Amino acid sequence: MAQTYCNVCTADCPASCRLLTDVADSRIIGIKGDPRDPYTRGKICAKGYALKELVYSPDRVLYPLKQQGKGSGNWQRISWEQAFLEIGNKLVGIAQEYGSLLPVSMNKFLGTTGLLSQSVEGFFSSLGPITALMGNPCVSAGTDAFILNYGALKKPLPEDMKNSRLILIWGANPAWTAIHQMRYIFEAQDQGAIVVVIDPIFTSTAARSDIYYRIRPGADGDLALGLAKILVEENLIDHEFLDNFTFGWPEYRDYLETVDLNQVSSSTGIPLAELYELARLYGTIKPATIRLGPGIQRGPSGGQNARIIDCLAALTGNIGISGGNVHYTSYEQLLHAGKYGQLRLPYGIRQGLSENNEGNTGHRILGTDWYTHLDTLDPPLKFLWVAGRNPVAQDPDPAQLIQALKTIDTVVVAEQTLSATAQMADYVLPVSSPFEFEDVVISFWHYGAAINQQAIPPLGESKSDFAIMHGLASVLHQLKPGLSSFPLHGDPRTWLTQEFTSLNDFLGITDYRELAHNPARVNLPAVPWQDRQFPTASGLYEFYSFTAAFHQTPPLPIPVDQPVSSRSYPFRLMVSRSPITLNSQFYTIDLLRRLENLPLLLIHPDTGKQKNLAEGDLAKVYNEMGELELPVSFSLSLPPDIVLTYMGTEDIHNTLINTLLSFESTDLGQIFSGSPGIAYNNCFVNLVKMG
Ligand code: SF4
Repeated sequence: MAQTYCNVCTADCPASCRLLTDVADSRIIGIKGDPRDPYTRGKICAKGYALKELVYSPDRVLYPLKQQGKGSGNWQRISWEQAFLEIGNKLVGIAQEYGSLLPVSMNKFLGTTGLLSQSVEGFFSSLGPITALMGNPCVSAGTDAFILNYGALKKPLPEDMKNSRLILIWGANPAWTAIHQMRYIFEAQDQGAIVVVIDPIFTSTAARSDIYYRIRPGADGDLALGLAKILVEENLIDHEFLDNFTFGWPEYRDYLETVDLNQVSSSTGIPLAELYELARLYGTIKPATIRLGPGIQRGPSGGQNARIIDCLAALTGNIGISGGNVHYTSYEQLLHAGKYGQLRLPYGIRQGLSENNEGNTGHRILGTDWYTHLDTLDPPLKFLWVAGRNPVAQDPDPAQLIQALKTIDTVVVAEQTLSATAQMADYVLPVSSPFEFEDVVISFWHYGAAINQQAIPPLGESKSDFAIMHGLASVLHQLKPGLSSFPLHGDPRTWLTQEFTSLNDFLGITDYRELAHNPARVNLPAVPWQDRQFPTASGLYEFYSFTAAFHQTPPLPIPVDQPVSSRSYPFRLMVSRSPITLNSQFYTIDLLRRLENLPLLLIHPDTGKQKNLAEGDLAKVYNEMGELELPVSFSLSLPPDIVLTYMGTEDIHNTLINTLLSFESTDLGQIFSGSPGIAYNNCFVNLVKMG
């Protein structure tokens, strides 16, 4: 007799879909969307249906493993007791040798989005000063951009988009990456809204738009400046908002006078007449909203570009009104609200680091480029814990990263499979899938909270992140009492209950287990900034940012110069999410890869002609960093100077796509995330036919 459990897809995806999991004989027999989910209404994507494949993947690591020689493949199964004891002794040894735990570090991100997975941050925070790897590969520059403009990062609830009369989808492809958002876009369209897509690629979302503008990659800031200039020229600006609620408007207006529209047209590739057409649309139709994709900020000018685009909303008075504003990924709203991440905050590494920025806690801070200068560190980095991330498959210059990992005495990777990063570990600790322990997930897009009930027992000897950190803390307590202040009392249910003592009111529930029956959402306003109170230095929306000036960053939003393609590497390589993979997640599922014929490299037919490549031919894609061999597929969705593939791609030799990326930083990110982001879109390659 099958039983049904409530679960949630914990992939790094805005939807955080609620799931219903059918289980018979302790085995998952079916996964479907939960029709009670108010955001998804029971619809999930192919990845959600394939979650069972991940749970029962033959690639699952089911026991703690120890490797003799990183990358050697010489694995030995060990017990948890041995793993905890040896890892604990490493930490104790470091503390004794160096008199501090500064040689210890941790690298974690959103491989799983459950609250209890934050116990990893909690554990490392409990050690006191360590080496903190700051920044994130995802939205650092954009986060800085919004906080500089507004003082905080807030976003409207997704459904407010249906109240818009004009929707600019700028560098985002929700038809693939946020499928449920499309419902609100279609609803707005049905009510007469105009949907405009601005993107270098004619995406599936562009295909459903009313107007599509092809922009050259990275020229988003130029376009927004050009639009701003036209809005001012044609007096399509909101004087009341500008005069009363903004700071630095006169300086910004002066700067706009220097903008050359012919130059904008040339850099963006958008004819002058179309610039005027778009500016007039945005300046005359209200409310108008912008959906800003994270890809916008993954370039050398990504942060400033995001700021400039956001300024369009201020110019037209589209801030603080229903149907207006700018939609951008935001965890920070919940963090600023002080109601989220309580597991993390008392022991929380990010909270600790924000103190450290003021010189209080003694953490040593490294950015996203940490592995490019390990040899300069004193004391050296001796210990690294990786969880919820696969940096060898995602970060630039993986060869350098692998070399860096080899120089670190102890690398521990907590993972479900032998990922590219796990293969470079000394210890791999098997993490349970989210179906195997109880947890709660809060979406970073719609703020819905959903419970993950334990549907099946942990496979093999796998444990949740919480159980792993708790186990290690217990052993550490025996080895050297006081080295960690991680609380040893309480089980996960106690921790979650404690967490929800502050969250219950925020969610309108009395116990987190009610989430199995009642969908709940964090009680935040559907429309931010209605009070026009901006927590900036001036108390106003800042065209001129005092915080930026303090951090020696250009205070006005002005684009940074972009690199261009060269004769040696004439094609820009863009790497986007596919409908069936997320970063490097899901790429291991054969079924999904077959659905999309992955791996492949999309090229324009003219590029094929130029390089003597036919559909399906194997091309060497190369630059000074490395090379991959990928089958090409022709597409008219992209211009001839762009080639495109998907995150997580690896070729027949298992070479990963990030092999082609060198390390370059975005312009912003360091102010609030502690490190600039990574300029993923700044990658140029050449092609040659194989064989
Ligand atoms: S990947 Fe996203 S859309 Fe797909 S099931 Fe998971 S949360 Fe839902």
